[in-house]
Amino acid sequence: MPAEAVPRTYLCQRKGNPTVEHSGPGTPAALTPAETDPYAMALSQFDQTAARLELSPGMRGLLRSCKRELCVHFPVRMDDGSLRTFTGYRVQHNLTRGPSKGGLRYHPQVTLDEVRALAMWMTWKCAVVNIPFGGAKGGVVCNPKEMSETELEGLTRRYTTEITPLLGPASDIPAPDVYTDERVMAWMMDTYSMHVGYTVPAVVTGKPLSIGGSQGRLEATGRGCTIVIKEAAEHFGIRLEGAAVAVQGFGNAGSVAARYLQEAGARIIAVSDSRGAIHNAGGLDAVKVIAHKSKTGSVVGFPGAESIPPADLLESECDILVPAALEAQIVRENAPRIKAKIIAEAANGPTTPEADAILWENGVLMLPDILANAGGVVCSYFEWVQCLQKFAWPEPQVCDGFSNFMSRAFHEVYHMAQQRRVDMRTAALMLAISKVADATATRGIYP
Ligand code: GLU
Repeated sequence: MPAEAVPRTYLCQRKGNPTVEHSGPGTPAALTPAETDPYAMALSQFDQTAARLELSPGMRGLLRSCKRELCVHFPVRMDDGSLRTFTGYRVQHNLTRGPSKGGLRYHPQVTLDEVRALAMWMTWKCAVVNIPFGGAKGGVVCNPKEMSETELEGLTRRYTTEITPLLGPASDIPAPDVYTDERVMAWMMDTYSMHVGYTVPAVVTGKPLSIGGSQGRLEATGRGCTIVIKEAAEHFGIRLEGAAVAVQGFGNAGSVAARYLQEAGARIIAVSDSRGAIHNAGGLDAVKVIAHKSKTGSVVGFPGAESIPPADLLESECDILVPAALEAQIVRENAPRIKAKIIAEAANGPTTPEADAILWENGVLMLPDILANAGGVVCSYFEWVQCLQKFAWPEPQVCDGFSNFMSRAFHEVYHMAQQRRVDMRTAALMLAISKVADATATRGIYP
């Protein structure tokens, strides 16, 4: 699910500037760990939910730990003949409900803690949508925008080789994430297959159709996000027709969500990518913005739109806000100024727990990442099953199955939220964590 990055102010803070940027008077309050480190954020969400579920200390200790963490340093021959050493990670958080599943991210600011958090969120995400996987994530510290195709291929093949002890269709199955795509998945699948001596399509998902990819996988995250928004609009009595939508990040998830929301009658008033943000209160044509971006490399410069500071997009006058970029974008400092009625997290971890509390207080409906962006991994599950069965399903079968999984997950989370009188994130986490805890208790402890 390649998503576009926006400036990550929290990363600067992480590197030793312990203040929140803020526009009002007075001294900014010190940041808590959950505001500066995605893993602390994931753990804080877990601890709050585990307390609500009254999990035993032993179960809490088990579920809050990542099962396996592999860190690799490896060389890549660059185009100019030089040798560069890269660092990569693959973390498997939990394998109780099945093989671990989760994307691979290429980004200059990848850290082990970020990958741990993303792996933990994958465990909860797979449990929320009820697919038989645990959670994992991979990351390589690199800037793919400054690398040639040959260099990226070399990096991908060597990283795959380094993490091969963890990989396999029955153990750990990568997929695309930020700045990786189906081309990267094809190289991974080929490298793994060369090592074992036969073709193993089920070792990765998000592959090109020609080598065992599934119909609908490319659009799945954005499409799933739209299904969840539609369900929420219906249940909470919000009209989608004419609703104003702002989308932060115009990669695979954000651009597809914008297109589907537009088809549902919504008006896309602002979008952004790593180069900037554009706005038009009258509406931007999502299809034309996608075409503009694929021609020029950015949404910036789209005719008929004004440029706005990227940070303003989150606070724009809109009904629905779709953060589809990176973690910790909605924080304690900007949360009080958010005007959207619904936030649908197409990205993983875009809202800190502190911001969550403010948004809840202000009556904003939060559709959490582990539900709103689960479409990607649901379709990945279908792709994996098709590869194992060596049988490709026709598109209507994928579409029907997909909509059913997403709608059922929404309803389960919604009912939990109503029943326990909690926000949708807490409800989704309660549902997910209790499923994993139940599976752990049912299997028992070895030996
Ligand atoms: N990277 C996507 C996510 O964060 C998809 C993972 C997958 O399909 O395994 O959900």
